[in-house]
Amino acid sequence: MTRAYNFCAGPATLPEEVLRQARDEMLDWQGSGMSVMEMSHRSDEFVSIAETAERDLRELAGVSDDYAVLFMQGGASSQFATIPLNLMAADGSADYVNTGIWSKKAIAEASRYGKVNVVASSEEGGFTTVPDQSQWDCSVEASYLHYTPNETIGGLEFDFVPDSGPVPLVADMSSTMLSRPVDVSKFGLIYAGAQKNIGPSGLVTVIIRKDLLGHARRETPTMMNYQVIADNGSMYNTPATYSWYLAGLVFKWLKAQGGVEAIGQLNQRKASKLYNFIDDSDFYANPIAPRFRSWMNVPFTLAEDSLNNDFLAGANARGLLNLKGHRSVGGMRASLYNAMPEAGVDALIDYMAEFARERG
Ligand code: PMP
Repeated sequence: MTRAYNFCAGPATLPEEVLRQARDEMLDWQGSGMSVMEMSHRSDEFVSIAETAERDLRELAGVSDDYAVLFMQGGASSQFATIPLNLMAADGSADYVNTGIWSKKAIAEASRYGKVNVVASSEEGGFTTVPDQSQWDCSVEASYLHYTPNETIGGLEFDFVPDSGPVPLVADMSSTMLSRPVDVSKFGLIYAGAQKNIGPSGLVTVIIRKDLLGHARRETPTMMNYQVIADNGSMYNTPATYSWYLAGLVFKWLKAQGGVEAIGQLNQRKASKLYNFIDDSDFYANPIAPRFRSWMNVPFTLAEDSLNNDFLAGANARGLLNLKGHRSVGGMRASLYNAMPEAGVDALIDYMAEFARERG
């Protein structure tokens, strides 16, 4: 068996050790006589899996008891509606920063529920930078300030946490969660779809400051009410049990790697290698302002678009998969999440060098 290097933006590559453990436990989880997939979510076995995962996530991300940790469903996209329904009064407003396609989706959805102020945008320049915070037109009246620390499609990543003063800061960390240390105490709410750095799709993790619970609008669907989910230990209904279990295995794996400090250093090294190679080449290019280049998602173009298909075919033949850029931006994109080994980045760079030599 040979495993390919999978550069997909999500669902993304998972640590091989995790997959092996899941395989070994597939038919009989720790003597229970059944797979985790077949267990009642109310059983002692599953409750212990769920609680251990939450404890490990709290430890990895440094989440204090002032916060609830929720394991929800519906992906990060359903949070785009869940957040305003829980945090914004019907006659209230929220501030949003627009740095790319995922910001825009969050803005469009929130606009259905109240007044959204786009306090800063880098759209005019093609989302290649983050607007300087001194220029943001924020309001202290806003129910919250929302931003997207890592734009998965554009490959744009904040290198700072915005200062929102007394206004709760809300972050879509889908593609940056657990990739580097973050001071959770600066946030009101952090959410992340699991299928990048956490586990399989079907799960979204939400970290919410407890004083923000209990303010949902009357019409909020029960399944979207943070207070209900928190009161029921994320088991108001049947949760995505297998995804939750696999997330727990990923958390254990990440702890064994040395946690977010160690993985952050590795992620920075992996990304720098690739960006340095791109910058040194006159065949490949990345348009993002260097300070805001994502460690997780590296989009790049070839000297001529007509070479894209040949590049992808050659990459596939070497087991370097899913390098095609998002349909909205074209070109290529290499996603380098926590589980992508440095050897995968080295193999990609070797191939890119060879392709440029032969076709450049
Ligand atoms: N936000 C960001 C930053 C993302 O990268 C994604 C998925 N690529 C989403 C939101 C949407 O996530 P989901 O598909 O889980 O709804």
